[in-house]
Amino acid sequence: MSTVVNPATEETLAEIESAGVEETDAAVARAKAAFPAWRAVSPTDRGRLLRRLATLVEEHHEELSRIESRNVGKPIGGARGEVGMVAHVFHFYAGAVDKHHGETIPVAGGVDLTFREPLGVVGLITPWNFPLNIASWKLGPALACGNTVVLKPAELTPLSTMRLGELALEAGIPEGVVNIVVGKGSVVGQRLIEHPDVAKIGFTGSTEVGQQVMRGAAGTIKRVTLELGGKSANVIFADADLEKAAAAAPYAVFDNAGQDCCARSRVLIERSAYDKFAELFVAATRKLKVGDPEDESSEMGPLISAAHRETVASFVNGEPLFRGDAPAGKGFWYPATIVEATTDDRVAREEVFGPVAALIPFEDEADAVRIANASQYGLSGSIWTRDGARAFRVARAIDTGVLSINSNSSVRPSTPFGGFKQSGFGRELGMHALAGYSEVKNVYYATEG
Ligand code: NAD
Repeated sequence: MSTVVNPATEETLAEIESAGVEETDAAVARAKAAFPAWRAVSPTDRGRLLRRLATLVEEHHEELSRIESRNVGKPIGGARGEVGMVAHVFHFYAGAVDKHHGETIPVAGGVDLTFREPLGVVGLITPWNFPLNIASWKLGPALACGNTVVLKPAELTPLSTMRLGELALEAGIPEGVVNIVVGKGSVVGQRLIEHPDVAKIGFTGSTEVGQQVMRGAAGTIKRVTLELGGKSANVIFADADLEKAAAAAPYAVFDNAGQDCCARSRVLIERSAYDKFAELFVAATRKLKVGDPEDESSEMGPLISAAHRETVASFVNGEPLFRGDAPAGKGFWYPATIVEATTDDRVAREEVFGPVAALIPFEDEADAVRIANASQYGLSGSIWTRDGARAFRVARAIDTGVLSINSNSSVRPSTPFGGFKQSGFGRELGMHALAGYSEVKNVYYATEG
């Protein structure tokens, strides 16, 4: 049994039977049995079923948002935005089913063409910070390509994914196509990685577990997509609109209480603008409303667990530049915190995964790029400047998969998302994600008599 709690109140939300190896094997067997019929569903009908799922998510928008808000401790406004994106993602992949096609290639003596074949049963393993969103990023392309799925949500936050599984059935997606298995990573996750009938693992989580996924997948040459940790830089040049950059910066690191793989937790500022920006950033962070996730005006909730709060706290030594307010009493609260740092400090190197921002000065463009790239990670980041040519020079020079200029947004249903370096590989979202859930088959047909 695992107990699912509300991190804002520490109240028990559900007691859930944890699946073991046997239940995992049974789910894989159901997915395997469902595969031939699912891959044979016509593209139009597969698109129609995904569209229906998208519509059901819209119809259950408030219910799903409440579940997500209570289970993850997210402010309800943010949870609503995320569930809106889930529907958008399924709409996108409903439309993508019949646009993912092969090629014809000029060859001598015949015709050569390629097909995009589904892989079979895919195992999807998701983290606790954006449970429903990340489930949809994997489910959408996996189903669009004609795969069947065994999806293991994080033990701490399985509730919205379990509800999504019910909605998939209600949408008319046949039994066995989407199987949700709730259990431990070291049991259910591990079994999926090793199972000979699972063709691919789509994983989002920590870099450490990602390494285990990769090692385990070697045994059966499984395909893997890894979306892992991050330590993204928010690079602010002195010529930027500093007011705008500072007003946006708190949301780029404290959103979801910093439990965001894209968190711009390293705030790099050109030295000549450092003092002015630091003042504006502190003032903007002071306004951040931290409190009850069910309150419509809350902007930041608690951390996911007491253990995680301890880890986050271990990154802050001494008096920070700024420490905000957070509710006392029940709940795993931690205040928005800004520290001044250098590249060598632990807080500037490791993923905090909590509301702690490290302010780091840089001297010039080359120094900004050097510091931004001084990380094992390479997921996301931002560049703020009024100089367009410099914006693109720096964007090309920073080794990350997703960048924004004069903005902090990283994620859209129609554009590719994923990491460089130890932030992982493979791309989610957009048409790019379909490559990770299909194989290219090349067929040559001789036409000479
Ligand atoms: P985690 O790695 O602890 O767990 C992720 C999932 O893997 C969970 O479902 C867990 O049960 C499972 N798991 C754990 N051990 C396993 C094992 N041995 N074999 C198979 N599965 C196992 O990560 P988390 O704490 O849930 O999430 C936080 C991490 O996820 C952070 O590092 C964050 O940066 C990363 N993340 C990355 C992205 C991205 O898109 N790049 C998005 C969100 C979160």
